[in-house]
Amino acid sequence: MRIQGIEYEELARRFGTPLYVYDGEVLTAAITGLRQVLHPAVEVFYSLKANPNISVFDVLRAGGARAEVSSLVELRTALAAGAPPEDIIFLGPGKSERELIACLESGVHAIVCESFDELDDIEHLAAERGLRQRVLLRVNPECAIGGSRLTMGGKPRQFGIDEAQVLAAGNLAKKYRYADVAGVHVYLGTRILDAEVVGRNTRYILDLADRVAHSTGIRLDTVDIGGGLGVAYFEGERDIDPAEVAAQVNPLVAAFTAEHPGTRLIMESGRYLAGRAGVYLLGVRYVKESMGERFAIADGGTHHHMAAVGIGSFVKRNFPAALLSRRAQEAADVGEDESWNVTGPLCTPNDSVLKHASLPALVPGDLVGIQCSGAYGPSASPGLFLSHGFPAEVLVVDGAAHLVRSRDEPEDLMRPQYLYRRGAAADKESEF
Ligand SMILES: *Cc1c(COP(=O)(O)O)cnc(C)c1O
Repeated sequence: MRIQGIEYEELARRFGTPLYVYDGEVLTAAITGLRQVLHPAVEVFYSLKANPNISVFDVLRAGGARAEVSSLVELRTALAAGAPPEDIIFLGPGKSERELIACLESGVHAIVCESFDELDDIEHLAAERGLRQRVLLRVNPECAIGGSRLTMGGKPRQFGIDEAQVLAAGNLAKKYRYADVAGVHVYLGTRILDAEVVGRNTRYILDLADRVAHSTGIRLDTVDIGGGLGVAYFEGERDIDPAEVAAQVNPLVAAFTAEHPGTRLIMESGRYLAGRAGVYLLGVRYVKESMGERFAIADGGTHHHMAAVGIGSFVKRNFPAALLSRRAQEAADVGEDESWNVTGPLCTPNDSVLKHASLPALVPGDLVGIQCSGAYGPSASPGLFLSHGFPAEVLVVDGAAHLVRSRDEPEDLMRPQYLYRRGAAADKESEF
């Protein structure tokens, strides 16, 4: 019922619920554990998409993570946390001109380019500024490698450029002067729980990088081997073992670096680094029975944790969850777990966080924690649905709890809206 010695009840009292709580020790263990076993030539880039909180990133950065960003705010977050530009890459299929200019002006290590049109844009924008910008080509691979929950390769995709088109593109090193095409990026899927799949992906990508370099004449300053390491959410799943990943990847990397001693090798990871560090803490408001089933209606729901609705599956499976209030101990003494539906405050039947979950008898005021919720939580959820706004986020480091994002207040949600007035000049900013 504690996190680094602090009672969850105390966190709920201090910061209110619903609340996301991140454990800095778990974040640090994830990044350092991965880096310790991987070949030293492999640099781990944290995908801020998974959890863009600046303090979460800062803890990972302190553990040696670099940054993979995909928006202006993610870029600013990484820079504000102190990531050096040479340890940042920017990726995404539809970058705006503003984002590309921000990349050029901040001097990121590389822009991961996802189309030939984008490559032309980078060339023009860099030329205008007299800059030479390193670009990695994101390749949509010909083959699909099974084993991930969301397979990327071998399908028509908006991401990257098809392998065949890249290989037929001619001499890209000569064609572009300001866009310094000097590397390859491939991302083959997410939620991979089998280290052998990571090994097969890596082998394919390193080989593809060589083929691309050969046919397009580009240098290989950097090869991004993707990642997609998973964490276990559901019964029967097991976390991917970093030692097994290393056993697969390290020999391939050793062989590759022997031939390409100066090449930076990047592994990207979001979910694996952040996922296990987060708990979504809900306060139970009401309990009731309906047609023989028990419902605990909580103060938080799927608007903060869309993934809990059931990811990659038509059958709703529960995230791991536990009763985290002090009463839990008493409850454990009292008796058997019961079957509970834990739902939120939204006016939709989809707002179901847990279905038929085994929990002790719940009463109003109890705290339920949805575990393994550090990745793809609030930022991947419809926080504005029913205008509840986003929850507060707390990071626990060295036994102390820090507020790292404040809860949206009604004023925060009202502020960006304007009440139009019939007859007022259409382009005049209204006062609210
Ligand atoms: C989403 C994404 C990641 C992060 O994926 P995880 O499964 O969270 O590690 C990395 N790279 C790319 C290109 C992505 O789109």
